[in-house]
Amino acid sequence: MTQRFQWNRSAAFSERVDRLELHGLHFQHVNLCERRAWMYLHRVNFAQWNSRVATGAAHQATHYKRDRSTVGLFGLAPDRVDWDQAIVFENKGTGGASGAVDRQVGFYALMLSIATGRIWTGRVQVLTNRRWREVSLDDALLDGLWADSLKLEQLFFNERVPGAHRIGLCASCSLAPFCGHD
Ligand code: SF4
Repeated sequence: MTQRFQWNRSAAFSERVDRLELHGLHFQHVNLCERRAWMYLHRVNFAQWNSRVATGAAHQATHYKRDRSTVGLFGLAPDRVDWDQAIVFENKGTGGASGAVDRQVGFYALMLSIATGRIWTGRVQVLTNRRWREVSLDDALLDGLWADSLKLEQLFFNERVPGAHRIGLCASCSLAPFCGHD
């Protein structure tokens, strides 16, 4: 018999996700840089400052192929969903920042588990080396996602941009032109 998904924080987690309109990238960003998560929560991005960048972003969005069955999936945007096997996929170009990426795909697996009552797993596919890893909704991941949601709520209501130091990610961060670091 298929095991049902049960988590005593499901209702509170879903309520917070709905209220704050959280999605997968929030859970990735908050594990990389709190300032980046804050900017994303408050919809601050470089495109607002540069219309040419905005045009390029729109072009990229319309040319990036995603699994159409994921469209309209209550704000989720995974790369592919296997509804039969209950696996949600996320493709990444490199294997970097694995902890943060696992939180992103873990969020998808959790939301699908809450919505369907089945236990979903995540799968991260690294395109450069064609390897993949499984992300299981174990107690550690559930505790991590819960803690991330609390941190995101705190950042959401924080009107001041949080402090940030230069980290390795800054070199490729789209927010770097106006971030300033500290
Ligand atoms: S430039 Fe660096 S410190 Fe600033 S938001 Fe990006 S990752 Fe964070």
